[in-house]
Amino acid sequence: MNYSETTTDTMPDIQQAEHVLHEVFGFEEFRSLQKDIIQNVLQKKDTLAIMPTGGGKSLCYQIPALLFDGLTIVVSPLISLMKDQVDQLTAYGVSASYLNSSLSPQNYEATLDLIRRNKLDLLYLAPETLLKGSILNLLSGLNVDCVAIDEAHCISEWGHDFRPEYRQLSEVTNKFENAVSLGLTATATPRVQTDIAKSLGLADANTFVASFNRKNLYLDVVTKSSPLQQTINFLRRHEGDSGIIYCFSRKQVDQLTQDLNANGFNALPYHAGLGEGERVKNQDAFIRDEVDIIVATIAFGMGIDKPDVRFVVHHDMPKNIESYYQQIGRAGRDGLQSDCLFLFSYGDASKIRYFIDQKTGDEQRVAEEHLQKLMDYVEAHQCRRIKLLGYFGEHYNEQNCGMCDFCTGDTPERENITVPVQKFLSTMARTEQRFGYNHILNILLGSRRKEVLKFNHDKLSTYGIGKEFSRPEWKQVYRELMKQDIIVREFEHKSLKLTPKAIKILKGDKKVLGVIDEPVQKTRTKSSKSDIESLDFNRDLFALLREKRMNLARKQGIPPFIIFGDTTLIEMAYYYPQSKDSLLKIHGVGRAKAKKYGEKFLEVINSFCKKNNLEERSKSGTNQKTRAVKKTLSKDSRPFEVGQMFQKGKTVSEIASEIGVKEGTVVGYLSKFVKAGHSVPSDNILEASGLSDEEMSKVHKAFDEHGHELLRPVFDALKEEVSYDELRVIQLYMRVKG
Ligand code: ADP
Ligand code: ZN
Repeated sequence: MNYSETTTDTMPDIQQAEHVLHEVFGFEEFRSLQKDIIQNVLQKKDTLAIMPTGGGKSLCYQIPALLFDGLTIVVSPLISLMKDQVDQLTAYGVSASYLNSSLSPQNYEATLDLIRRNKLDLLYLAPETLLKGSILNLLSGLNVDCVAIDEAHCISEWGHDFRPEYRQLSEVTNKFENAVSLGLTATATPRVQTDIAKSLGLADANTFVASFNRKNLYLDVVTKSSPLQQTINFLRRHEGDSGIIYCFSRKQVDQLTQDLNANGFNALPYHAGLGEGERVKNQDAFIRDEVDIIVATIAFGMGIDKPDVRFVVHHDMPKNIESYYQQIGRAGRDGLQSDCLFLFSYGDASKIRYFIDQKTGDEQRVAEEHLQKLMDYVEAHQCRRIKLLGYFGEHYNEQNCGMCDFCTGDTPERENITVPVQKFLSTMARTEQRFGYNHILNILLGSRRKEVLKFNHDKLSTYGIGKEFSRPEWKQVYRELMKQDIIVREFEHKSLKLTPKAIKILKGDKKVLGVIDEPVQKTRTKSSKSDIESLDFNRDLFALLREKRMNLARKQGIPPFIIFGDTTLIEMAYYYPQSKDSLLKIHGVGRAKAKKYGEKFLEVINSFCKKNNLEERSKSGTNQKTRAVKKTLSKDSRPFEVGQMFQKGKTVSEIASEIGVKEGTVVGYLSKFVKAGHSVPSDNILEASGLSDEEMSKVHKAFDEHGHELLRPVFDALKEEVSYDELRVIQLYMRVKG
């Protein structure tokens, strides 16, 4: 298939690219940066594209490949993915093939024949295959228009996945004089980026870096109390969905797999202790929707490209933020909402700390740093996206992402913990900052332990003054102190030291906010509703369409998502297309797929509609519908419920005690309600504030000076003296007053 209808001396342009996007792939519009990148490639300017997993990198070379006269070579190290990618393209009616060591000699020869006869638009190759003299000779005699280098970070020793063969690629790309080079990667660190540009000879290349924010991932961190039960509760909300659960060790993987199957779930294990055959078999079953859940060690994931993974659970701590990001990134490539749950425990953290303590020198320092970054993320009392994206150097400044536990009001509120903090710090001061955490705690709790008595610490004025809190609660105080840089732990002797901040606090010049309660087991509100659930599509029809898809996939021996993705089936179950023309307007239905599968799916839709007296809904061809759905609040959501109670005259504190949440949470819900366009009476709002008139006018002034949208500048301007909760109340008041 060749979509360049123009003569060879004019380059294909972006309109033609859009045409291909609609006709071949059935997508409505380009995603951010895809358009710029494709435009650049079409103009034969070398390009480096950096986008997160699921960002849509493949289209950046697939569409130009269909517009260029000559061949596009795609270099990829992931042999196991090539077949799927080629199968997907074939389903879209694109002529693509691959060469790697997994092909039988006959198939290898047949592919070579296609290449010689110029029958291919795209050819996927492993780097070592491309470097073979015979292959290189063959290809350099052909008209090659583009060389795309996927997973380009493999060229960098700084990356997490260095492959020496990649180093030789730049010599090879020079052989294709007419070809534009396109490097693609999901690795964001600047060091790796420069390395790629340098090593691939893309010095003058235009670099495009997309945001690493994966908007459709719901990020949730929960204190691990009873992991099996917590996992089961979570899975019950995801019946029939595909998902991955990551565990620390092989033993845990086997145990959890067994427990889940005993509880009626459908799970298979994946770890390095299984034979190659079994691993491939289990992975295949997952990709083909024959099993819902894979319980895995970190070894799982590189070689899969399944777009409809609906959840990722971290049953144990990931190694660092980068692997956490990579692992949750395997969810929701298709853009539909997906749930990421992280079961966190301090016990897991100290296990990791134990391993770190065995290391030495630089290695130890780096590992410490990694753990600290992860702890910062886990303990953040702000939108999860701030720390996560901050790690990759991206500044996230939306006030409410609406897709993390903090922004949806699922995290515990911070309170004034100055008094217990002062007790802790003054015990440290009175023992000359020579002791570690356990000793300080023993003094505060009035312990009769040998070491306490030996140093006469039972005579201190702070001895036994901390009995109002339990050990775990004191542990939380301690974490806050470390996190807020009020104390530091000396490396060698593990003794605790005061920082200048601590001195201010001891003098009473500074307040401390933090969380002491053991975080309670959360009961999630409807906030985790996915797009699928909020779009009012017909579930019965959806189930029938899935069944059809499964049958066809089995017959052809391909994964179901290659036929149609979930988004496509959802749209079918919403618009009820009854003709080929309407079918072509559905997301993900291009000409080739309509021809190949249209009839079979139309049959299902037609007969279902007839039976149930349903009529087709018209679809305009843009995806405005999904946007409209997202904006409004569903009638049974918490913010809606709370908003209605408030409209009826209940006060914030009444609502808080009635539904069993803190007042700050109620204020959060009300803000959402108001943001969604509902109105509430302003009179009752200020009742929720504990500020004096004088303080209130200061806050008003600060808002006027720094704008009403962001709280952080106002919080800073007021020298952190007014809590976020208070600020939210005033902000809401001002919003309602207009
Ligand atoms: P990456 O290689 O960056 O991880 P992919 O190229 O596999 O991402 O794309 C992820 C998913 O998004 C695929 O299912 C793809 O079909 C889909 N996709 C890509 N671009 C678009 C677009 N413009 N509109 C709709 N879906 C798209
Ligand atoms: Zn958030």
